[in-house]
Amino acid sequence: MAQYDYDLFVIGAGSGGVRAARMAAGFGARVAVAEDRYMGGTCVNVGCVPKKLYVYASEFRHAFEDARGFGWDSKVPAFDWETLRDNKKTEISRLNAIYDRLLDGAGAEVIEARASIAGPHEVRVGNRTVTSERILIATGGWPFVPPIPGAELAITSNEIFDLEHFPQRLVVVGGGYIATEFAGIFHGLGAKVTQLYRGPLFLRGFDDDVRQHLAQEMRKDGVDLRFEVDVTRLSRGTDGIDVTLADGSTLAADAVLYATGRKPHLEGLGLENIDVKLTENGAIAVDEHFQTSQPGVFALGDVIGGMELTPVALGEGMAFARREFNAMNAAVEYDFIPTAVFSQPNIGTVGFTEAEARAEFGEITLYKSTFRPMKHTLGGRDEKTFMKLIVDQASDRVVGVHMVGPDAGEIVQGIAIALKAGATKAQFDSTIGIHPTAAEEFVTMRDPWQG
Ligand code: NDP
Repeated sequence: MAQYDYDLFVIGAGSGGVRAARMAAGFGARVAVAEDRYMGGTCVNVGCVPKKLYVYASEFRHAFEDARGFGWDSKVPAFDWETLRDNKKTEISRLNAIYDRLLDGAGAEVIEARASIAGPHEVRVGNRTVTSERILIATGGWPFVPPIPGAELAITSNEIFDLEHFPQRLVVVGGGYIATEFAGIFHGLGAKVTQLYRGPLFLRGFDDDVRQHLAQEMRKDGVDLRFEVDVTRLSRGTDGIDVTLADGSTLAADAVLYATGRKPHLEGLGLENIDVKLTENGAIAVDEHFQTSQPGVFALGDVIGGMELTPVALGEGMAFARREFNAMNAAVEYDFIPTAVFSQPNIGTVGFTEAEARAEFGEITLYKSTFRPMKHTLGGRDEKTFMKLIVDQASDRVVGVHMVGPDAGEIVQGIAIALKAGATKAQFDSTIGIHPTAAEEFVTMRDPWQG
């Protein structure tokens, strides 16, 4: 007779939790997953997936305009928000069902209820208490809105996908991934978008050239991008929501999106019933094997406050399951994790920024290229692509690759493999390009940037 009801109880059916549950069940563990909101978590429901669908939707505006230069008698047709929103809903419901089936097929029990930890091996779920040898916290993150007067009038990335009416005037507060992606999406869909960021240049943490290039391209395209702007309050005005800025001026908006970061989602989790320590940022503290300070309780994904990226959570879920249920010494490698911002144009990046590379390696060589994508020659758009390579002089290893331009995420994903493998600039140079592509520029940048 087993000592516990389950070998693994996972709280949260997002990217990390589902992957850990499926793999553990595949290794023969008795697994349950509790989820009270939506199968697939943030990424599938209010994150990566619907976001990318909306990016596709918004890119059509330029495509209709560009088509004229290629001979199409194209007019920009009217955009219907309800159609996009409702088609998106249908697709997400399809994915929710797939997630359900995947867990079911793997032999994991899905419990549609909120779970809270009652003790080191006890979980309260619905109106029963179950026991499990291991508990995995994979509850992800939750949008954070700073407590300014009128904050309740703001929406977050949880709400923006399903707005009843299309916001003709959107104010976006924040300068990170989400703010920048949504500024591009709604601008493309036809809204008047103002993006407000508190610092001197948005996308802190990305390479400075990338940040500047994207700011320039977004402004050229018509996004009202403002830096060093603080919002002091939101209030209901005669014509929508009034956004009051620190200089006393106001902006009228139909919707105000706050994308000012996310916090680990710990509410109602019952952490007070066990001995789990938090980091100074309020994330669950874990060791390299996702073990918390409470034996038997593990955590991974956004709730541990690392890189909040779906593929990272997936990697962590797999490493956890392999180690705990298949006796493999699996570890996640956190170096050279590529990432994309689905801004318009996209950012794709992997490795060190110029500032980080200087601090890490000292002597570096830079290669930079700015050019007009071939498609825009006939399309007529005045959008430039930017590419940058950062090379450690001592080893000739390429340690940073950055791009702003169409398909940057797709291109940099491939290059990330080369960087993980330790490719040198000489190996980039000896690689034959694919012509004509934008990506070939990465293997034909011969002359170092002279500053
Ligand atoms: P980010 O941490 O990327 O950005 C938060 C932004 O809000 C920063 O510009 C920050 O400014 C600003 N901010 C924070 N607090 C305040 C405040 N009190 N007042 C005004 N501004 C504030 O968070 P996001 O919410 O954009 O996204 C969360 C995470 O989700 C990302 O970090 C990313 O890991 C992930 N994500 C990934 C995507 C992808 O892979 N394409 C897409 C979307 C999200 P400052 O820089 O000055 O601190």
